[in-house]
Amino acid sequence: MDFTLTPEQQSFRDEVRGWLKNNVSESWVARLRQSSDVPRPEVYDLLRDWQRQMYEAGFVGLTWPKEYGGRSLTFMEEMILHEEMALAKAPPVLNILAIGMAGPTIIAYGTEEQKKRYPPKMLSCEEVWCQGYSEPNSGSDLASLSTRAVKDGEHYVVNGQKVWTSLAHVADWMMLLARTDADAPKHKGITYFLLDMHSPGVTVKPLRQLTGDAEFNEVYFDNVRVHESQILGGLNNGWAVGMTTLMYERLALGFGLQVRLRIALDGLVELARNTTKNGAPVTKDPVMRQKLAQLWIDTEVFKYTGARAITKLLKGELPGPEASAGKMMWVDGHQRVQDLAMEIEGSYSQLTKGSAWAVAEGLWQHTFLRSRANSIEGGTTEIQKNIIGERVLGLPKG
Ligand SMILES: Cc1cc2nc3c(=O)[nH]c(=O)nc-3n(C[C@H](O)[C@H](O)[C@H](O)COP(=O)(O)OP(=O)(O)OC[C@H]3O[C@@H](n4cnc5c(N)ncnc54)[C@H](O)[C@@H]3O)c2cc1C
Repeated sequence: MDFTLTPEQQSFRDEVRGWLKNNVSESWVARLRQSSDVPRPEVYDLLRDWQRQMYEAGFVGLTWPKEYGGRSLTFMEEMILHEEMALAKAPPVLNILAIGMAGPTIIAYGTEEQKKRYPPKMLSCEEVWCQGYSEPNSGSDLASLSTRAVKDGEHYVVNGQKVWTSLAHVADWMMLLARTDADAPKHKGITYFLLDMHSPGVTVKPLRQLTGDAEFNEVYFDNVRVHESQILGGLNNGWAVGMTTLMYERLALGFGLQVRLRIALDGLVELARNTTKNGAPVTKDPVMRQKLAQLWIDTEVFKYTGARAITKLLKGELPGPEASAGKMMWVDGHQRVQDLAMEIEGSYSQLTKGSAWAVAEGLWQHTFLRSRANSIEGGTTEIQKNIIGERVLGLPKG
């Protein structure tokens, strides 16, 4: 990939840089930064406003076609935007599942009506989306899902349960995978629906996590009626459509989380600079220096691996199984950043928010605990390894 910017790309970079400089205000971003890589409930409203501001300035959905609310730019501009956001320590947008997954999937598979209806409100954050894939007995083996959608005139009647549904408690819409043909082989009887979360019969019950936050939920469907026009990509074609969403998810993770990793690493270096051990700054300790330098190297490698995936997209190809490598690099890098933060804090790492002696008001304790979920969400590390083994290396099926 050629990293030399064209004059147009340079002026785009200057435009983004200037805008971020004027709009990333230190006071409230300091608060948002406490939110780690995943938005915490207490900052949802701020992030909603932040996304709207970014959208109005033209910086959300850069690669989406103009007619559906985007700017029809390339992934090169998307990469520039993410790089600048990392430098400015800008917060993430709230509607991450719509921008990273639902939107690109609707643009790829939607009818003209669906493409006009949904993407613009995703970008402006007027409508928040969640992803209804996992069920109590179907996670890694997603194709075994058992939520049913049975045809009744022009509608489908949905019954069943989803679990671990992030943002469902604030979502207006769900990407729903449901079984529409119980007799077909398991991958062939699934349909992808765009489900209105405000429909009668939808119940959302928050689940509290290790961190104490309730950022995901159980979602129950009790005779929920969905019109057939809400099917995306055709009846019983949900597996192909759903997998496209997951490819975009891993790609978006690669893009967006590269920025979050960089911001987390910068924070870690700051923590090391401000911490002394045995009378000397931690940054003077040769072992700590090695660990910090290795993390910096890995963060750069992550960035360039992302750039390789972009080269593919610039050639007009869809994101492929190699996106799994980006997901794994994020997980490994981010968990090591968090582990090292605990090591740097030493015995203070035991003190959480609420203790007068907690370092940085317990921020690192929260992000450390939250980072444990990274190797599960978006497909577990073992599953990513299976994908790489089978589909990149051509090894026999596990
Ligand atoms: C913070 C968070 C947010 C999430 N948000 C969402 C969301 O918004 N929407 C959604 O639909 N889901 C969401 N999930 C669910 C997530 O996608 C699943 O948890 C994940 O896919 C694993 O499924 P499972 O929990 O059923 O575990 P299982 O599939 O039961 O896996 C258990 C263990 O077995 C291993 N394993 C399973 N199969 C294999 C295999 N073939 N080879 C080797 N090892 C294997 C797994 O790696 C894992 O270690 C979220 C999860 C988390 C933690």
